[in-house]
Amino acid sequence: MTMRFFNTYSRKIEEFEPRDPAGHAVSIYTCGPTVYSRAHIGNFRAYIFEDLLQRHLELRGYKVHRVTNITDVDDKTIRGAREAKVPLTKFTEQFKKAFFEDAETLRIKRADEFPAATDQRYIDRMIEMIGELIARSLAYQADDKSVYFRINKFPNYGKLAHFDLAQLQSTGRVKHDEYDKEHIGDFALWKAWDEEDGDVKWDSPWGPGRPGWHIECSAMATALLGDQIDIHCGGVDNIFPHHEAEIAQSEGVTGKKFVRYWLHCAHLLVDGQKMAKSLGNFYTVPDILAKGYAGRELRYALLRVHYRVPLNFTWEGMKEARESLGRIDEWLQRLRQVAEKENVQRATPINREHASNIQRPTQQFEEALDDDLNISAALGFLFESIRETNRAMDQDEMDAATANAWLDWWKRINTVLDLELETEIAVPAEVTQLAEQRENARRQKNWKRSDQLRDQISALGWEVRDTKDGQKLTPLAAA
Ligand SMILES: [Zn+2]
Repeated sequence: MTMRFFNTYSRKIEEFEPRDPAGHAVSIYTCGPTVYSRAHIGNFRAYIFEDLLQRHLELRGYKVHRVTNITDVDDKTIRGAREAKVPLTKFTEQFKKAFFEDAETLRIKRADEFPAATDQRYIDRMIEMIGELIARSLAYQADDKSVYFRINKFPNYGKLAHFDLAQLQSTGRVKHDEYDKEHIGDFALWKAWDEEDGDVKWDSPWGPGRPGWHIECSAMATALLGDQIDIHCGGVDNIFPHHEAEIAQSEGVTGKKFVRYWLHCAHLLVDGQKMAKSLGNFYTVPDILAKGYAGRELRYALLRVHYRVPLNFTWEGMKEARESLGRIDEWLQRLRQVAEKENVQRATPINREHASNIQRPTQQFEEALDDDLNISAALGFLFESIRETNRAMDQDEMDAATANAWLDWWKRINTVLDLELETEIAVPAEVTQLAEQRENARRQKNWKRSDQLRDQISALGWEVRDTKDGQKLTPLAAA
């Protein structure tokens, strides 16, 4: 079964063929966070879509190499650091940490690499690329000392966003500092240092300054994935100018087609409106957790709508997410009970005819995802299967083998969904016994013995805590 994706470049559904002649390896570049504030749930909608893409490709046997960049220098990060009166790296560090925390809460698979724009390796690569572009007359240094890309010299400019340059000329608003440019649409590759930048600067053949946002991605993508990559993702607001500029810069340097498939995720709305701090509808992951929701519930709420359809986030939707996951949890619990039950215990033999209908877990889930990641259809099949198998279990018409087959199917599709309730790890009997002895020792106020037992318990990899409800055992975190 071939996969099909809607390619923003062609505006068509295309069959997916990776560059790898063996057809196994797939390279993916996804634009990551700009670490000037905590990412909001709209950003995470896009990251969850990219996670779904990677996981489904892997389910279908592809070996994915994914790179997600961290933009840790741009106007917003510099302004934030200046206002907080801390060095840029210190300022961005907290938001990098927050990004990884939130991604983990939402069970987003880590990319293979998270290059940061301020890494000297990539700064060098950016400078090298800008030099090449100047040598090819695709870029120039203006009177303001900044270096700009000359869009008139790149005939394909505008192809991704599907608009022509004349349009850009008439609608562009000319800012004072843009009079230096040859064309209003020319974008900065290298921004000359000014006082506002403080000590944020790097040396270059064009004087001190810092890279433009677009060149950061071109440099990191080509440095880590080569001149040509299979899939490039981002939110729809990245299409122009960011991704358009990435194409111009990368192809301007390499002369090769930069990206085979451009996939873009639609916006997230909150209560039907664009998220904005001023509207009080701006949410981060911790904001949702603070309302008592779990990471997997938010993951489900952000995952369940097709990525090209705008998603309307509501609290009602969070309640629905909780209910849907509750149905899955309950279904799995029932299947496990049936799977464990011995057939001999049955009062009546199974109606084989009925059982055969529900015997084979469906392929439809995976085929729906092959079709441009149609997650809503895939989830539709999942819940249809849950209804049917529940009915069979209600009527005691499912045997252990069938229940096991469904559990195996769930295990497979859950590598894509990652929505299962995390079960508590069972405490080993040996640890429980030691904990009981410790409780006795404490009752006898034998603190020395209590401490010895605590050490024995921790030697077995468990931590014992004394709470008002008695002792609590938790596995020690792996070092
Ligand atoms: Zn980017």
